[in-house]
Formats: sequence, structure tokens, C-alpha cells
Amino acid sequence: MVTKGEKQPGSGTRKDPEIVNCREALAKLYGFLDGTLTDTRREAVKKHLDECSPCVSAYGFEAELKHMLASKCKDHVPSRLADRIHGALVEEERKEDLSTKEDLSTDE
Ligand SMILES: [Zn+2]
Repeated sequence: MVTKGEKQPGSGTRKDPEIVNCREALAKLYGFLDGTLTDTRREAVKKHLDECSPCVSAYGFEAELKHMLASKCKDHVPSRLADRIHGALVEEERKEDLSTKEDLSTDE
């Protein structure tokens, strides 16, 4: 169900130099959150997120996660909670030990 509204007059021709399908948008998500993207790319990703709800979910998740990790450094996380999270992560890593490594290399 895609209901595209009227485009704002004056926006002219579509100019999407970089972007963006879902895969690209997600690939750039880390840079987007880190603020390492160029303005053009940020715009493009942002635009895609405006129109694509699956990506918005992914973006929301990453942003949430990042925010959580960032605030962890400042605030004091109850050690039990930290242990549980750590335990869960270790557990996951054991399960996915074979498949995760490729996904983690997102350097540009
Ligand atoms: Zn998308």
C-alpha cells in the first residue's frame, strides 16, 4: 500500500545522486547515526527513511541501540542488568559465531 501524496511544487526533477534502495539505506545507517556521512548522503538516506517504513523500523532500532549504548557510558547500569545483557550477547555470539563476522565489517 503505497499512497504517494502530491509532491511539493518547486522541488523540480528528482535528483537522487546517491540513493537509495533499502540495502543502501541500511548500509549507510551507521554513518548516518555517527554523523560521518556527507550532507548529500544524509539527505538521501533521510528521504528514503521518510518513504520506507521497514527502513524506519531498522533506523529506529539502531538509533535506540546507539542511544542506549551511549547512555550506558554515562549512567550506571545495574550490574545485574549488564550481566544479563552480556550473557545474552555471549549466548548469541556462540550461536551465530559462523555467520556474524561478515556483517560486522561496515567500514567504508
Ligand atoms: Zn527502505
